Amino acid sequence: MDRADIVVLGTFVADLAFKAERLPVVGETLLGQGFAMGPGGKGSNQVIAAARAGARSAMITRVGQDSFGDMARQTWSRDGVDTSHVLIDEAAPTGAAFIFVSSRTGDNAIIIESGAAANLSPADVRAAEGLISGARVFVTQFEQPIETAIEGLRLARGHGVTTILNPAPALPVDDAIYVNCDFVTPNETEAATLTGIDTATDEGALQAAASLVRRGARNALITLGAKGALLHGEAGTHFVPAFKVTKVVDTTGAGDAFNGGFAVAIAEGRNPVDAVRFGAAVAALSVQKPGTAPSMPTRADIDAFIR
Ligand code: ATP
Repeated sequence: MDRADIVVLGTFVADLAFKAERLPVVGETLLGQGFAMGPGGKGSNQVIAAARAGARSAMITRVGQDSFGDMARQTWSRDGVDTSHVLIDEAAPTGAAFIFVSSRTGDNAIIIESGAAANLSPADVRAAEGLISGARVFVTQFEQPIETAIEGLRLARGHGVTTILNPAPALPVDDAIYVNCDFVTPNETEAATLTGIDTATDEGALQAAASLVRRGARNALITLGAKGALLHGEAGTHFVPAFKVTKVVDTTGAGDAFNGGFAVAIAEGRNPVDAVRFGAAVAALSVQKPGTAPSMPTRADIDAFIR
């Protein structure tokens, strides 16, 4: 691929989900009731959402030289994602998550290890400057080191590329990061963690969005689950409701679907409110299917749904 419209800097994680009647206690071995393995990691999920939604998309990350790294490359190549800036780390394993789920209560317990992606460095991002400078939209999250995300946002903005920061998982960050964000897209819990403002009410969510804008973001876009999303900043203040879904199957990855879809619509030159609607459509389709990356809809599905 000569050029990508959307460049995502982030992680790939192999999700290994074990179901048992309950979660094990310390020192205990339980017989399982099911096992599923699939591609995960916020960056990877978002790049797949963007590629399926029709954008030329590229991934910047590190994976290990192992079978989960092979899984990552197969996952991306199936959807035509450019992997020319996926580095193979010979010293670290590919990221993985062990997810224990209780079949009785639905509770889970998770350990995520970013593996090779924890070694993603600002120098890795600078090595991808040519890719980033040719993009329309740059997207990143906080699953790899924050200084690496900061370098990506700085470079992208310097080249006039629209930047989206999905600040997940929410971590205490220096306000300087927001200065290079066109859109910062936390969910309501992350917005509360980042700002210290209770986002449970509409008023609280608006205050949190205003706080992110005061810190330097051009726009804050707070997702509010099945309620929708709040956009606030240079684009004005808009509450965009979610699409009504009668049969919700699995909401895991809804945020990733939303961010990938939103990025595609922005890359296509839609105004931010229409882009939020497009992202919401991608997310609404994804929650009707099981899994994260496998549940991302195609452009044909999205166009048929929005029409
Ligand atoms: P997750 O952590 O599960 O990936 P998230 O917490 O990052 O998701 P949410 O705010 O839950 O993100 O959802 C993102 C967007 O997805 C919402 O703004 C909404 O448009 C859409 N969405 C989420 N849940 C539903 C639902 N049940 N029905 C329709 N749309 C939904």
